[in-house]
Amino acid sequence: MGMITYTIDNRLYINVTNKCTNSCIFCIRNSEKGLGEGYDLWLEKDPTAEEILFEIKDPQKYDEIVFCGYGEPLIKLDVVIEVAKKLKEISSVPLRVNTNGHASYIHKKNVPQLLSGFIDRISISLNAPDKEKYNEICRPFDKDIYDHVIEFIKESRKYIKEVWVSCVDIISKEEIEECKKIAHKLGVNFKLRAYEE
Ligand code: SF4
Repeated sequence: MGMITYTIDNRLYINVTNKCTNSCIFCIRNSEKGLGEGYDLWLEKDPTAEEILFEIKDPQKYDEIVFCGYGEPLIKLDVVIEVAKKLKEISSVPLRVNTNGHASYIHKKNVPQLLSGFIDRISISLNAPDKEKYNEICRPFDKDIYDHVIEFIKESRKYIKEVWVSCVDIISKEEIEECKKIAHKLGVNFKLRAYEE
């Protein structure tokens, strides 16, 4: 059974699901090395909110708790909300979600609004300066999803205190600059992540 939670430095990561609506060419799930920490993150089934909370035990001892994967955590929106609500009740640890930004489209709900008050930081994978590049490298389930990712970033800015968008450095310098400009225009922070084979 893969691990439900793991730590990097003093941050706790929650492996919410292995499912994703993208199939990025740079996805860590495709790399043999995985996270490089020797963690087995392949889940036999997605954990319930109770199982996640049981694993966390004492949230206050971490600098941050992050909802992420080996997959897209907001596919399991109800689980993320339930766990985040509980963690906010019992601690003051900052909560972050790492997401591909598809969730509002998938669930037909304003997901950033639903996360407001529980999630302090959100990091959204932008990955490309336009739809064509996005479809080429992220291989999403829907060819028009890029527009919804942009919409998700705009809504996140309204409802979540700290918003980041990120790109992986497999695109050209010019494309990275374009992504930075998009982030700037949307009024959010930008982070370039290194591709790890
Ligand atoms: S969005 Fe994240 S989890 Fe999903 S395929 Fe891309 S890199 Fe992997």
